[in-house]
Amino acid sequence: MSEKLIEFKNVTYFYDADEEEENAPLPSPALKDISLTVSKGEFIAVLGHNGSGKSTLAKMCNAILIPSSGEVTVEGMTTSDEDNGDLIRRKVGMVFQNPDNQIVATIVEDDVAFGPENLGVEPSEIRRRVDDALKAVNMYDFRLKQPHNLSGGQKQRVAIAGVLAMRTDVIVLDEPTAMLDPVGRSDVLSTVRMLNREFGITVIMVTHFMDEAVLADRVIVMNRGSIVLDGTPEEVFSNTAAVKSCGLDVPQSTEFCSRLGIKKTVLTADEAVEEIIKIYGGAAK
Ligand code: ADP
Ligand code: MG
Repeated sequence: MSEKLIEFKNVTYFYDADEEEENAPLPSPALKDISLTVSKGEFIAVLGHNGSGKSTLAKMCNAILIPSSGEVTVEGMTTSDEDNGDLIRRKVGMVFQNPDNQIVATIVEDDVAFGPENLGVEPSEIRRRVDDALKAVNMYDFRLKQPHNLSGGQKQRVAIAGVLAMRTDVIVLDEPTAMLDPVGRSDVLSTVRMLNREFGITVIMVTHFMDEAVLADRVIVMNRGSIVLDGTPEEVFSNTAAVKSCGLDVPQSTEFCSRLGIKKTVLTADEAVEEIIKIYGGAAK
């Protein structure tokens, strides 16, 4: 797990750096001196209230944004050198919040083929990649459908297939479930988790759902452009006061068990049931 994939070194980012007037007060940076190492195979959840810098951090990972100072490297390649842009985008794919803004074609399989076509992959290989990607996200049966007839969760899975077809090592998802209903959310999440666990794809997922963050190996909490907490879900959510001081909640099961006086940091409803049975007994199964 220790092979470095993405590294942020003292990264600061100002959105309006170019338009600064002379002597104008410096705006506050969207990212402030961020240092972060993402290792191969990790599943990282990024949390933080609105405006804390999550999307800015996400866009730094595949050179959509370039640091104002400091450096981001992907497998050692700096994003500050434009010549690395193409290679970096082949390594790191992005999935955004709104599924409708990411679908470009009128047939599902054409949409998934769009990325590899742009990379100049040969047609027989594209066919194979599109089929594999659609099967991986469980959307193969929909390959000839029109995306506008799909649900939000299905569209997000098509968007994820589009990234898979480019054979990227890392998927960065910026609040991929924010616009979905509970079924869509759960389908997208289990897809993302499976890609991480079974295919070894490194995942960086921005989310504002605490119950999604507990699925990750590592949780990063941002506040005002800085990383303020970074650890396993247990480590981060056991620090309830620090999480709340960033304007966030801990998962409901965590809060519930802590109020019951249970010392262990519980993260999910299943764990909560287990702990409660230990204390109060009962035959719940
Ligand atoms: P989050 O995704 O956590 O809500 P963002 O990364 O979008 O946060 O934003 C971080 C900060 O940068 C906020 O103060 C936001 O207002 C500012 N910001 C975001 N996008 C832009 C932009 N395109 N132009 C200027 N400021 C921006
Ligand atoms: Mg955002």
